[in-house]
Amino acid sequence: MKCIYCGNAESKVVDSRSTDEGNSIRRRRECLQCGKRFTTYEVIESTPVLVVKQDGTRQQFDAHKIKSGVIKACEKRPVAIRDIEALVASVEKQIYNSLEQEISSKKIGELVMEGLKELDQIAYVRFASVYRDFRDVTSFIEFINAFK
Ligand SMILES: [Zn+2]
Repeated sequence: MKCIYCGNAESKVVDSRSTDEGNSIRRRRECLQCGKRFTTYEVIESTPVLVVKQDGTRQQFDAHKIKSGVIKACEKRPVAIRDIEALVASVEKQIYNSLEQEISSKKIGELVMEGLKELDQIAYVRFASVYRDFRDVTSFIEFINAFK
C-alpha cells in the first residue's frame, strides 16, 4: 500500500475494521516516511472453498446447509436462533481462516459438533449420530457415555 502523499511503500496499520457488508476491510494506515494517515479499503478475497464428501465428490461450501443441519438438530430444544447463527458464523470463519481450498465434510461436521457441544447436548448427540460413522449400536453407546 503506497502512501498517497509521498508514494512510500511502507506504512503501518493503525486501525482496521470490516465494513458493514463484511466483504471488505477498512484500514487506517500511517506512512512510515511522512507520518501522514490515509485510509484503504481492502477486499477480502473469497475464493470458493470446496467440500469433499465421503464418496469423493466435491461441492461448493454453503453455510446455509450447515445452518439447516443445525436447526434440524436443535428442533424442540431451547436454543435461540441467534445462537445457531453465531455457531454457523464461527464454523464458517474457521473454514475460511484455515485458508485451505478444500475441506472434508467430516471436518465440517466436527467443527459443528464442537460448537453444538457447548450449546445443547441433546442437539449435539442428534447431530453427531448423523455425522459420525456409527458402524454399530455399541460405538454409539460408547460415544454417548464418553461425554456424560
Ligand atoms: Zn508518506
